Amino acid sequence: LENEIGRLDRLNIVGEMAASIGHEIRNPLTTVRGYLQMFGMKDKYAEHKEQFSTMIEELDRANLIITEFLSLAKNKAVNFQHANLNEIIHTLLPLLQADALHRGNEIKIELGNIPELDLDKKEIRQLLMNLVRNAEEAMLSKGTIVIKTGLDEGQVSLSVQDSGRGIPKDILDKLGTPFFTTKDTGTGLGLPVCYRIAERHNAKIKVKTGVNGTTFFVKFNNPAHEE
Ligand code: ADP
Ligand code: MG
Repeated sequence: LENEIGRLDRLNIVGEMAASIGHEIRNPLTTVRGYLQMFGMKDKYAEHKEQFSTMIEELDRANLIITEFLSLAKNKAVNFQHANLNEIIHTLLPLLQADALHRGNEIKIELGNIPELDLDKKEIRQLLMNLVRNAEEAMLSKGTIVIKTGLDEGQVSLSVQDSGRGIPKDILDKLGTPFFTTKDTGTGLGLPVCYRIAERHNAKIKVKTGVNGTTFFVKFNNPAHEE
């Protein structure tokens, strides 16, 4: 099954909304979180410790949704620089591996010889993290995630492959729709953020999925700097 997702129009409206209200909501959340943390440490609230940490967790979740929502904004500032995808993967690897280990999964990397691209490093890290997190969450039992880079028909390709349960056909069409999730605690914003980041990098996301797992491909049109 192969499916290219080009439903970015849907994201435009939410993106613009996110840009304008996101910051306004985040500031009060930060204030409330600070006070909760402060009061939560007082002895006289000792018997309510659990409620305090629940409140903080919920605020953190709301904050995560806003952060993800904000990165959907069309006019979000980006910081492109010549960068090596392989290097970004290398720096992120310890973090990804720690997370994988925690879940009993394994991460393998197969990095090919690829030219530098114009990349926003922060965004590429975000993209990778979102794809790897989904891969982790797709695996019912322990499994392996393979992160690959390489050249494919002249395009730089980055892929994240899991040995998870695959994506049913009816769900494939919904990928990239903000807030679409099949998880109890999902935000449904991970992939929309990935599509937006890919779009900003002039890259396309493709997905191959089946009973043996799923692979997300990010194909960069961004040409090599030919001298
Ligand atoms: P969330 O992870 O919060 O649910 P995402 O936008 O990251 O939101 O993903 C949306 C949905 O796409 C997931 O809930 C899941 O059903 C499906 N999905 C994404 N990646 C994978 C994958 N690697 N394997 C199986 N399903 C996936
Ligand atoms: Mg996700």
